[in-house]
Amino acid sequence: MDEKLQPPDVLRAEVLAALGERAGFTTRRPGEACPLTGVAVFGLTQVHSSRVLVIDETREPDEVRRMEADGLVTSRPGAALTIRVADCVPVLLAAPQGRAVAALHAGWRGIAGGILARGVEILCREAQVDAGQILAAAGPAIGPCCYEVDLETGRRIASRSPQGVLAEPHDEGKVMADLWQAVLGQLHAAGLSPEHTEAVRTCTRCHPGSLHSYRRDGPLTGRQIGFIATPVD
Ligand SMILES: [Zn+2]
Repeated sequence: MDEKLQPPDVLRAEVLAALGERAGFTTRRPGEACPLTGVAVFGLTQVHSSRVLVIDETREPDEVRRMEADGLVTSRPGAALTIRVADCVPVLLAAPQGRAVAALHAGWRGIAGGILARGVEILCREAQVDAGQILAAAGPAIGPCCYEVDLETGRRIASRSPQGVLAEPHDEGKVMADLWQAVLGQLHAAGLSPEHTEAVRTCTRCHPGSLHSYRRDGPLTGRQIGFIATPVD
């Protein structure tokens, strides 16, 4: 089936190159849930949890859109999974050939709650593969250049991902966090191979012309979308 990508720009991760147009990160436009056509598009009501939902043949997009969770996993043919973010990290995962895929919303709460480990575990079960075979890409998010958090938030990130908080001292009562490192660290701890993982390190806050940032623009900002789809047949 026809899977056309439309502008605007789509950022791709090299590690997911085998999936071609079926995986990427882009800015969402009104009325567009995902820049793929010819597939069933699934999204969630995201609540910064570590809940991960499996999309089987019985699930309908309208039903799933109302469900509160922050991760999706599927091996259903012709299903696109989407995650919306505006500083948090969109994480896309794929079993070999992308026959089973996952999309996760990883902000600091999801990271502290272990959503990466949970997503990997469920994807491995769904695809019947070991974590060492899984490919994963973390997309544009607020970078360590811009992501200042209070000490308690830093402590909670570090409790799960010690490499997610920068060691250099910062303003009193604050630390800088690196969500990409936090995500990669958890993926590696879950058994993924470093050569199978990648972070597209484009800071949302540093790119006002092309990316949305909650920290920069507030709650009315737009959203980036991370999408990943299984083959149609
Ligand atoms: Zn930045």
